[in-house]
Amino acid sequence: MSRITALRTVDVRFPTSLSLDGSDAMNADPDYSAAYVVVDTDAGDDLSGHGFVFTIGRGNEVAVAAIRALEPALVGKEVEPLLTDLGATSAALIGDSQLRWLGPEKGVMHMAISAVLNALWDLRAKRAGLPLWQLLGRLSPEELVDLVDFRYLSDALTREEALEILRAAEPGRAEREVQLLRSGYPAYTTTPGWLGYSDEKLARLATEAVADGFTQIKLKVGADLQDDIRRMTLARKTVGPDIRIAIDANQRWDIEDAIAWTRALAPTDPYWIEEPTSPDDVLGHARIRKGVHPVKVATGEHAQNRVIFKQLLQAEAIDFVQLDAARVGGVNENIAIVLLAAKFGKPVCPHAGGVGLCEMVQHLSMFDFVAVSGSMEDRVIEYVDHLHEMFVTPTVVSQGRYAAPTAAGFSSEMHEKALHDYEFPDGSVWAEINSGGN
Ligand SMILES: [Mg+2]
Repeated sequence: MSRITALRTVDVRFPTSLSLDGSDAMNADPDYSAAYVVVDTDAGDDLSGHGFVFTIGRGNEVAVAAIRALEPALVGKEVEPLLTDLGATSAALIGDSQLRWLGPEKGVMHMAISAVLNALWDLRAKRAGLPLWQLLGRLSPEELVDLVDFRYLSDALTREEALEILRAAEPGRAEREVQLLRSGYPAYTTTPGWLGYSDEKLARLATEAVADGFTQIKLKVGADLQDDIRRMTLARKTVGPDIRIAIDANQRWDIEDAIAWTRALAPTDPYWIEEPTSPDDVLGHARIRKGVHPVKVATGEHAQNRVIFKQLLQAEAIDFVQLDAARVGGVNENIAIVLLAAKFGKPVCPHAGGVGLCEMVQHLSMFDFVAVSGSMEDRVIEYVDHLHEMFVTPTVVSQGRYAAPTAAGFSSEMHEKALHDYEFPDGSVWAEINSGGN
């Protein structure tokens, strides 16, 4: 019998604003950050669980405080029951009524629960000696539905329907595992398209992306229409007609502006418009989808929980489901979202980038392929080539595809040295920046 001895938190921030990596129409100067949590135990096996809330800077201290608020629910508790029944663990964390009041099931507290649950999943997968995608892809349909809270979903997806979806995919699981290990999962890249980059840098990075084997890239839009027309025209000319170019407005527009702006860019053949407006505006997305056809609509990286995804799907408001590994209620709620997407026949194309989001979310897409949708058609995982070196088992992308992770865990563990050097505000990197040495 072993117990949880600590939730260790670290406020770790990377000074990405210095190079405008990650700049878009709403987020001009992000410092990619992680409110990082390590779940330590006294099991004596040297295994710990790692998870984090992704933020873009100062919000990190709020997220760290929210993670600390979960300490009483976990520290001192027996590890095995928590890990064996992560459905019950999730329900207990989310159901704490005094903390639930802050959401419910949304916002900083929900993201903190996500970080802790993801850390527990990391620990469970490490103990099982399997990468998370494979651990999830080998659970029985009954075990998988036990992880999901169907409350608020049953008008769109019942437990029985979820079981049917999972059972239908069971026969091909082993074959699809082999396929993933052999040839990986398709990726697209956002690296060329940050708003703060010059035209020369955009064209160079777009050329490199195609040479690297990507068949889809993404450009940030929404700050200035004439600039966007110029940048999209340049990108289209650079990559040719056969490469998909998605565009991403990061919630910049009202509904009619979103339609007009996207239509103005239509001659450059954008593939999807991402986050055109508020992530809460389900009916607005439905209106935009009708108004910009045949350009498709994608959203989800800021959707706060499974209820919003349910409504986006019910309202036929989106073409692609962009779940995020470090938002909603972690692995458990993301399983619900993957099942919802399968029920409505929409591809899951996750949000990634930031710091560590590629590392984690690849497991969810691969689980979807193995055990839920059974398909890679029109499915791609976002990829951004930033900060992977901070991780113990970094994402491997080559020839435009994610290699299936083989190391045990959720790929969420950062190097101790990275946590130490980039800890805010006293790590060596920040000490140097703050002393004017950069
Ligand atoms: Mg986006």
